[in-house]
Amino acid sequence: MINGSHISSVEEHERKRLSKLRQLNLLDTPPSESFDRITRIASELFNLPIAAVSLTDENRQWFKSRVGIDHWEIPRSKACCGEVADLSRVVVIPDLLESPHYRDSPLAQSGIRFYAGAPLQTYDGYLLGAMCVLGNEPRSVTEHEISMLKDLAAMVMAQIELQHAFGRLDPLTGLSNSSKFIEDLEDRARDRAGVSCFALYIELIDIAEMHSLQRVLGPACLDDVAREAAMRLQLELGVGNVIYQVGPCQYAYILESAERCLEESEALATALRLRQVLSSMPLGDAVPFVLCPMVGVAPFRLGENVPADILRTSHSACQAARDSETGVSLFSSSLDEQHFRRFELINGFRHALEDVGQLQLVYQPRVSLATGRCVGAEALIRWQHPTLGSISPDEFISLIEHTAMVRPLTDWVLRHAIRQAAVWHRRGRVLQMSVNISAANLGEPDFSARLERYLAEQALPVGALELELTESALISNTRTAREALDVLVNAGIRLAIDDFGTGYSSLAYLQKVPADVVKIDRSFVAQIDQQARSQTLIKAMISMAQELGYHVVAEGVETQESYRILQALGCDEAQGYWMGRPMTAEAFDDWLAAR
Ligand code: C2E
Ligand code: CA
Ligand code: CA
Repeated sequence: MINGSHISSVEEHERKRLSKLRQLNLLDTPPSESFDRITRIASELFNLPIAAVSLTDENRQWFKSRVGIDHWEIPRSKACCGEVADLSRVVVIPDLLESPHYRDSPLAQSGIRFYAGAPLQTYDGYLLGAMCVLGNEPRSVTEHEISMLKDLAAMVMAQIELQHAFGRLDPLTGLSNSSKFIEDLEDRARDRAGVSCFALYIELIDIAEMHSLQRVLGPACLDDVAREAAMRLQLELGVGNVIYQVGPCQYAYILESAERCLEESEALATALRLRQVLSSMPLGDAVPFVLCPMVGVAPFRLGENVPADILRTSHSACQAARDSETGVSLFSSSLDEQHFRRFELINGFRHALEDVGQLQLVYQPRVSLATGRCVGAEALIRWQHPTLGSISPDEFISLIEHTAMVRPLTDWVLRHAIRQAAVWHRRGRVLQMSVNISAANLGEPDFSARLERYLAEQALPVGALELELTESALISNTRTAREALDVLVNAGIRLAIDDFGTGYSSLAYLQKVPADVVKIDRSFVAQIDQQARSQTLIKAMISMAQELGYHVVAEGVETQESYRILQALGCDEAQGYWMGRPMTAEAFDDWLAAR
């Protein structure tokens, strides 16, 4: 039993040693002058033909640097360097042929007689291999030579550790960086898998604010602040606690307790403390702003969460902290899911635009209240996502509207709606087709030209198309948008103000907008069959809009009673579930035939 556990601890140590060796990224790398220089000196100092920096891999000795040998590696078994690493001390073999162990080794067979090697040991005690010198004649060594060999080994280690630190330290603050954060977490996970910890992500200043400061004061204006913050955090947490610089003015810290399971409240208290330390930091006169640091806290288990994801979740919590009163926030997986869903939708929409079958248009009838006849249809988009199922346009349109895909989106809708309108037109159905467009589309220089081309291609008269825009889109003050509106109106395309009443803009202002139709938002229509106040309000809206020359459409008509009231109030048109839900083109044909 004791023996068994001893073996496994030896194996365990070897596993860690190998992982350390791999982490250093030395094996199978090309020769480098910084090591070759040391090997050359070794060969000359000992006046021996062969010298090498030899690393002990799982089954081989691999030479990072060598003088006097042709091969890069030899088998680990019966290699003298392996013994140096195993014994962790200088090994000298004056004559290999005299040694019962090495007499028949590949080294002895290749003509080597003398060997001396000093261990290459990391600061945390792992033996990587040996700095060695070899000769073709038996030889002895002096005490002085042994201490020289040790010095050379120390120089090799200094070089290895220097190379390793390079790329892991932030040059500005001297703190470990995010590569080191990831490496350290992997190390911890190897030692203490399953232990629960917290990652704290600290943001000194909002990125957007940082950029605007840098624009005025220059890119280095926050360097002093970043250094000072690093120092204060280090002072607060004490030596031995590592703070990582994970981005400009962004720091991370891992909270772990060796003895017990940490409580969420403790992590939050630490977060508040660190935030306090930073907010009370005096800023020189050179930086005229107030610090408002944020701290995000994300729980995780060593070995169960991927380090990069720990950085992500704690950063996400830090972003959420901006909306919290305390400036500290705990990671929320539901918020995270929302972000993921948004991301997935934006990403998926690209494919939806190319895939046949994911996107579809449905059409909802618009009915004249005077005659009861269907006078038009609003084209509404539907998206069947391959894994997430049917996605409501209320969810995805607002996301896509903020991306460059708003152009292909509207383009897709326009082309499909115009094609369908042309089909109806050819059958002699006089229907006005309404298409929803986004404010950003008005900024596209070729928008109206494209639109006219699509109409021409399908031989659809310009007057058969209406574009719906929300109030906010219509009153946007950019010159291109206003010019685009004028071009559209001059081309004879009708414009409708969608969701009227929800945009808080005054009628007087809207009057300047060249629209023909006002669509009263369904929130005003919803209660008219139940509330007298609603009726009064809508009555005023209808008469005012009509007096200003608008054609008025009521949206969201769900009951016969509402329909009747709108009719009595003199509203021009109605649209809503009571007359017809949005339907596919075929269902729309059936619906028309049945009326
Ligand atoms: P919207 O332009 O106000 O369209 C009317 C919405 O009200 C549609 O929702 C329609 O299904 C719904 N609706 C119609 N009648 C009733 C009713 O009687 N009661 C109730 N409760 N709702 C009714 P949908 O299709 O889910 O579209 C939501 C919004 O998404 C649209 O609001 C529009 O802003 C946007 N959208 C839809 N399709 C497109 C599109 O092709 N392009 C753009 N840019 N936006 C679109
Ligand atoms: Ca609409
Ligand atoms: Ca609407």
